[in-house]
Amino acid sequence: MTQQRFWSPQIRQLSAYTPGEQPQQDDWIKLNTNESPYPPSALALQRMAEQCDARLRLYPDPRSTTLRDAIAAQFALQPQQVFVGNGSDEVLAIAFMALLRHGQPVLVPDVSYSFYPVYCALYGIECQAVPLDGDLHVQVTDYAQPNGGIVLPNPNAPTGLALPLSEVRQLLAGNPDSVVLLDEAYVDFGAESAASLVNEFPQLLVVQTLSKSRALAGLRVGFALGHPDLIEALNTVKDSFNSYPLDRVAQAGAQAALEDRAHFDAITQRIVASRAWLAAELQALGFSGPVSSSNFLFVTHPRRDAAQLQQALRERKILVRHFKQARIANYLRITVGSQPECEALVRALQDILGQPG
Ligand code: PMP
Repeated sequence: MTQQRFWSPQIRQLSAYTPGEQPQQDDWIKLNTNESPYPPSALALQRMAEQCDARLRLYPDPRSTTLRDAIAAQFALQPQQVFVGNGSDEVLAIAFMALLRHGQPVLVPDVSYSFYPVYCALYGIECQAVPLDGDLHVQVTDYAQPNGGIVLPNPNAPTGLALPLSEVRQLLAGNPDSVVLLDEAYVDFGAESAASLVNEFPQLLVVQTLSKSRALAGLRVGFALGHPDLIEALNTVKDSFNSYPLDRVAQAGAQAALEDRAHFDAITQRIVASRAWLAAELQALGFSGPVSSSNFLFVTHPRRDAAQLQQALRERKILVRHFKQARIANYLRITVGSQPECEALVRALQDILGQPG
């Protein structure tokens, strides 16, 4: 008899999110999970090393006070408007649980981060997909319908397209009575953050991460910004679930990474420059796709099957992401790597496309 009989019934029904492949050897060019190709801030590495002493016998600060103070200062907000968690995935999971279970459907774009429907399923929230338009853009006017909340990545993933702040404002003005969660995982690569709107719109929750532009995916730190009452709901769930989400090392490392503005500016500028180079090279090879405001490109080729291209790249030790969802099944999502990694990708594609498809 299957031992799944021991599983909670809801978990038997659940299809979990499939994380991108993380090979444990270093000989891959990894352009599949939107990590930074650059190392984290040296200051952050130093501060983390300093934490590795006898103090590790003690629990960390459950409220991550100094880290929250630093985030608040960076966004000109109060510390009680800041929540931190173990990667933005955990922040999102807590936000879905705390703020989006109102018995009405939560609206999400039909092409967006595939974790959202999983959280909905986990918490019994109805998830209503709102189709992107023909050019893969989010049309904010499509979100003017009764809802139990709206979740939008901005820039969207995996398309890379960003909404301007004027349209975010329009979306918020049209939805005063439900939580609008903006997932800004990729905002630092060229989009406008809605963090500045948090004091104006009490229903807005902005979620960001240190995994992408701060090159700290391995540390697992994300945060949310919002009205103190929204943040209190997140703390209520956190304290009922894992009261010490961020360890001492993560709190110190994240704080230093936020302080080290020079490193952040340098690595984001390099990625944005390589993105422009790579977009032009891919276009020359016949690919097309939306204009990216993120650290990845979303591209399709008129004569080649995306799944086959992904496999051909894999054989050359280059990982890129392909999604099976019908509408985007002929696209690849390619993380902007270091300039040499981007050049190796272009050489591999030239080789593959030079052969009969
Ligand atoms: N949101 C989006 C849109 C993402 O693509 C990712 C990365 N997979 C995350 C959130 C989660 O990132 P993290 O948990 O590393 O902060």
